[in-house]
Amino acid sequence: MSAHKTGLRIEGATENNLRDVDVMLSEGISAVVGASGSGKSSLVFDTLYREARHRFLATLQGAQGAVRAARVRAVHGLRPAVAVGQNVLNRNPRSTVATAVGVHPFLRVIYARFAVLRCPRCGEATETTSAEEQLALLRTAAATTPVEVVAPLVRGALGTHDRLLAGLAERFGASCVTVDEAPWSGAPLDPGLPHTVEVRVGTLAPADDARAARALLDAVAALGSVQVRFRTATGLRVLSRAPLCTSCGAALPSVRPQDFRADGPETAGYELAGLTLPAFLRLDVSRARAALAGTALPPQADNASRHVLRRLDALDALGLGYLTLDRSSPTLSRGEAQRLRIAVLLANDVEDLLHILDEPTIGLDPDQVRRLLGELGRLAGPVVLVEHDRTAVAGAERVVEIGPEAGSGGGRVVFEGTPEELWRADTVSGRWFSGRERLVPPAGAAADGSGARLTVRQAEAHNLTGFDCAFPIGALTVVTGPSGAGKSTLVREVLVASLEAGEPRGCAALEGPAIRALTVDQSPIGVNPRSNPATYTGLADRIRAVLAAATGVPAGTFSFNRSEGACPTCAGMGSVEVKLRFLPSEWVPCEACGGRRFGADVLAVRAELADGATYSVDGIYDLSVREALPLFSHDGRARRIIQALLDVGLGYLRLGQPSPTLSGGEAQRVKLAKQLAATKPAQLVYLDEPSTGLHPADVPRLAALLRGLTDRGSTVVVVEHNQDIAAMADWTVRIGPGSGPDGGRLLH
Ligand SMILES: [Zn+2]
Ligand SMILES: [Zn+2]
Repeated sequence: MSAHKTGLRIEGATENNLRDVDVMLSEGISAVVGASGSGKSSLVFDTLYREARHRFLATLQGAQGAVRAARVRAVHGLRPAVAVGQNVLNRNPRSTVATAVGVHPFLRVIYARFAVLRCPRCGEATETTSAEEQLALLRTAAATTPVEVVAPLVRGALGTHDRLLAGLAERFGASCVTVDEAPWSGAPLDPGLPHTVEVRVGTLAPADDARAARALLDAVAALGSVQVRFRTATGLRVLSRAPLCTSCGAALPSVRPQDFRADGPETAGYELAGLTLPAFLRLDVSRARAALAGTALPPQADNASRHVLRRLDALDALGLGYLTLDRSSPTLSRGEAQRLRIAVLLANDVEDLLHILDEPTIGLDPDQVRRLLGELGRLAGPVVLVEHDRTAVAGAERVVEIGPEAGSGGGRVVFEGTPEELWRADTVSGRWFSGRERLVPPAGAAADGSGARLTVRQAEAHNLTGFDCAFPIGALTVVTGPSGAGKSTLVREVLVASLEAGEPRGCAALEGPAIRALTVDQSPIGVNPRSNPATYTGLADRIRAVLAAATGVPAGTFSFNRSEGACPTCAGMGSVEVKLRFLPSEWVPCEACGGRRFGADVLAVRAELADGATYSVDGIYDLSVREALPLFSHDGRARRIIQALLDVGLGYLRLGQPSPTLSGGEAQRVKLAKQLAATKPAQLVYLDEPSTGLHPADVPRLAALLRGLTDRGSTVVVVEHNQDIAAMADWTVRIGPGSGPDGGRLLH
C-alpha cells in the first residue's frame, strides 16, 4: 500500500495522438484539461483506464487477453479502476432512482421485517417483532423517558373475568389494571357485555438496565400475551410477537421482502413513518431521508437502514435531493444520470479504487460544483477528472494540461502543477481559466426582444408553477437556473413539445407563429456501431457517389452496410464478438478484413480525389474531418457538410468513428453540423447545454455558430450554465430559485 502514497505515474504513453507522455497524477483529485481532441481522453480513458482493466481481467480465469494492454511503457501506483463516463443514460423503463442507486432492496427488507402493519379487518397498526427486537426497542425508547409496559389480556370477550382481575390486582395492584379503556374501579363486570382488560406490568426508567427491561417483557410473556404495548407521555407503540392484530386478533398476512417488488394488495397495509412503500418512494430524496432517520427501528434494522441512508446522503450531497425515489431513470438528464452513478460510488464501502470521471460537473452551477468536489474528496483512492469547468479545475489538487492543439498538433503535456500555477501559466487553459482571455461576443444583429415573440401561457409541466414566458423570434434566448429547477422542462416539454404537437403541451396556450422546431440535444446519434458521423450527416452518400463517378463501380458497393460491400466474415462490423463467461462480451477486430469492414475486392478499388492522390474507401473513412476537407472540394454538398463539422469543432473526428463511441457533446455537435449544412435550417433550434465537453477556448466558436443561426433567421433557445454563453444572450429566462419543488418559478 505504501507504494500508492507516491501517487500515480504514467510513463511513455503513446495511445492515439499521445507523444510519449510521462505524467504524474495526485493521490487525491487530479484534473486533466485540454481543448477538444488534444488527447485528454487518450491519456485518461485509452491509457489509464484501459491498462487498469487489462490488468484486472488478466487475473480472471478465461478473461485474459479480452482487453489489450494500453500502449504505455509503465504505469506505477495503478489499482482497480471504476469509470463514470457521459453515456450512462439508463433506458430501462422499469429502472427508477431507488433501484438504480440500490436503496430498493434494502427498503424491501425494512418494510417486510420492520414496518407497521395495518390490520386489513379493523385498520389497527401492529408491528410484528421478535423478543430480542422488543427488548432493543424498549431500551431505546426508555433511554430518554420512562416507558410503561402494558400487556393486553382480554379483547372484547364476554364474562366477568373476575378470577383474572383478582389475580392481576394481587400481583400488580388494582391501579395497574385497565378495563374497557378506563382504570378499573374494582367493581364486578357485567357478564353480558364484551370487555377488554389490560395490565401495566411495570415502568422502565432511563436509569434501568437490560435485566430490568427483560424482566418486564418476561412478565408480559408469562401472562400468556403475544402482544405488548409501550406507553410514554407522547405516544403508544403496539408490538406483537406473532402476526396477529393487536386490536381484533385477526391473523395478519406475513410477507417476504421480494413480495414488495410489485405494488400488490398483500403489501398495501405495511407502513413506515405512516407511508406505504409506494408512498415512501414518491418522496424526494431529502424528505425520504428525514422520514427514515426519524423512524425508531430496532437495531436489527440498522444495517439495512444505514445502507439506505448512506445512499440518500450521497444523492443529497450531489445536489440530487429533489429527485423522487420513484422517478423513472430514462427521464433523468445526462448530468443527473451521471451524478447518480457517482452517488453509488460515494455510498460504496470499497476501498482504494482509481476513480475516473468524465465531466461530472455537466449541468451544475458553481455552488453545486464546489459541493461535488467536496464529496469526491472523500472517496478512497485517486480521482481523475476529465474536466472543462473552471470551478472544478480550481478545486483539484493537481492539473495536467494536454495540448497544445487538437489531433496531431496535440498529445503533449504542456502543463503539470497546481491550479494556482496553471492560472499563471501561459497555456491555452491557463489563459482561459484565469480569465486573462475571455469570450468577445460575436458581432451580429442582436434582437432586442421587442419584435415578434412566442409566448407560453401558464407553463405548468412537472414543477413549473404556471407562469407566462416569452421567447423573441429570431433572437438567441438563454435559459439559466440551478440543476433541476425546470429549465429543460420549460423548453423541451412545453415550448418545443407545443410547437411539435401544434397545440398547447404543459401550458394553457402558446401564442405566436407556428414555426418548425428542432431539438439538438446530447442523446446518441446512433447506438448501432454501423452508424458514424458520415452516415448520420449524409456525407456517406456523397462519398459513395464520388467514388462511383471516379471508378465506374456501382455506388452501393462502397457501403459496408450492404452485402455487396461488406466483409463477409464480420458482415461489415469490423469486429467480431467474443463471449466471456461472467463478463460482458468483448469485441475484437475482425481478422479477415483487419477491422476495415469492407470485402477484399472493394478494398482493392482506389479512386483519385481532388488532391491528386488515390484512396480506397476505408482509407477515406479513416480520415479526420480536417484531412477530408480538401479532398472533396469539387463536391459542393460534401464540402458543405465537412465544413460544418469543422465549424462545430469536430475537425479531429474520424469520418468512420462509430457513433456509440461519441461523447454526448460530440453527438450534439454532429447534429448541429447537420443543421448548419442544411439548405433550410429549422425555424427554432433548441440546444441543451451545448458547451458540454468544450474547453473555454472552444466556446467562442460555439458562440459564433449560435449567432450565425440567428443571422440566418432561426430562433435559438439554449439551456446553458456557461456564463460566457449566458452573457451573449439577446434574452434571458431564469428559472429557480432552487431545484425540484423549490424551483419551477420564473425569476426574470
Ligand atoms: Zn384488526
Ligand atoms: Zn471483417
